[in-house]
Amino acid sequence: MTRKRFSNSTLAPWLLGATLLLFIVIAGALILNLMRLRDSFSWVQHTNDALLAISGIQREVLEAETNERGYLLTGIDSYRENYNHTRDTLASRLDSLRSIVTDNPEHVARVDDLRQLIDMRTAQLGRVIELGPERVREALDILEQARTDRLTERVEASLSALTRVEQALLTERMSRHDHESLAAALITACLLILAVASAAIAAFLLEHQRAAARQQEADQRLQSLQAELMRVARLSTMGEMSSALAHELNQPLGAITNYVQGSRRLVEASSHPDKAKIGAALDKAAQQTLRAGAVIQRLREFVGRGETDKTVESLRAIAEDALALASVVTRDRPVDVALTLDPAVDRVLVDKVQVQQVFLNLFRNAFEAMHELPERLLSITSRAVEDGMIEVVVADSGPGLDPQIADRMFQPFETTKAEGMGIGLSISQTIIQAHGGSINAEPAPAGGTMFRFTLPCADPGAHEPRPAAVSVL
Ligand code: ADP
Repeated sequence: MTRKRFSNSTLAPWLLGATLLLFIVIAGALILNLMRLRDSFSWVQHTNDALLAISGIQREVLEAETNERGYLLTGIDSYRENYNHTRDTLASRLDSLRSIVTDNPEHVARVDDLRQLIDMRTAQLGRVIELGPERVREALDILEQARTDRLTERVEASLSALTRVEQALLTERMSRHDHESLAAALITACLLILAVASAAIAAFLLEHQRAAARQQEADQRLQSLQAELMRVARLSTMGEMSSALAHELNQPLGAITNYVQGSRRLVEASSHPDKAKIGAALDKAAQQTLRAGAVIQRLREFVGRGETDKTVESLRAIAEDALALASVVTRDRPVDVALTLDPAVDRVLVDKVQVQQVFLNLFRNAFEAMHELPERLLSITSRAVEDGMIEVVVADSGPGLDPQIADRMFQPFETTKAEGMGIGLSISQTIIQAHGGSINAEPAPAGGTMFRFTLPCADPGAHEPRPAAVSVL
């Protein structure tokens, strides 16, 4: 069975898509909820309208009865006119109540029953008004009949029933709406949590992806820097070794030349039969010795020429690159590094890779010297000095220089380390001298070793020499 694998790079876009979808669903749910809220407001409004119409009808019935009594007792016409007006208003209020509850057939039936009762009651009232105070006896009979019929109580009972039903309906609708709203809010909250969680995971994965890409890029850069530095180091090493060999071979060659010339003189003074042949052979030997000397001289000249490919570079960038390279070997025992270079004199005219090599040699030596110590500090400072040069000081908190090597440490093959080749400092010196600078070592004020070297500033006119900074070490 084969399983499809999801890597971070494929999962992150999926999660982002899911997050987007969830946000769209949440937006839809919110819109639906808003629409439901609007519905529930309209239901409240509907109930209010119905209750208003019912109480209006109640008021008009009361008003009609008051006007009937008023007219019967006083015979004043305004009571009769008011009664007529109230009767018409009652009819229109019943119509409006019917239209409000038209969506509910049970309600419509109730309103129709109410209308019947009201019609019967207004018919009674109308007859009493017609009889008036002149025929009060007959009118009182109708009133007596009305008391028996209890029409007013029945109208009121019907109106109260309508009110109760409307209120009960509203309560039921509101509670249904509350439950549904709660459920919708819970679902929306869950979706929101899901969306935020998936967005967070997607962001985390993307950041992780980016960090991995950055790390890969940094590793590639370190690798290419290392390769370049190794190439330069190999060339420098060869140069140093050739120079040292040339120096060492010069003396025996000089001695050979002397011996050959001495032998030549002895052979000439002798009476040996083959002295001409021996003389010629010794001449050839002397010639070859001179040739060997010339070859060696040329080699020394070539090595000593120290050709460099100078460009304007940032001293800080060179130091930082070298630090990154040197730190690869000190990952298990990190060092506190204080890189406080003067930004005013950052631009140097140098062969970048060669100067990186110098920094790297000094950093490696410092890290190796401090390796066993609990406190490991490295400080790198710079300042402008005379003759358009920049002085760089690399100081460590190591054990300091071994007195046995202190005055020979820049010579090739001088080392105190079991695995050391003793050429790092001599290469560094060659490089610094090829740039017109100088390098030396001295004890740091608070223990450890301090290397000072100078490099040419790219804008010599623009810098003022500064006093030496007090090292933190
Ligand atoms: P290597 O590191 O192979 O020994 P170098 O030429 O770089 O060769 O260093 C020569 C010697 O100088 C080292 O063996 C060490 O004794 C001494 N040295 C260099 N740097 C330091 C330092 N920061 N602290 C103490 N000694 C140092």
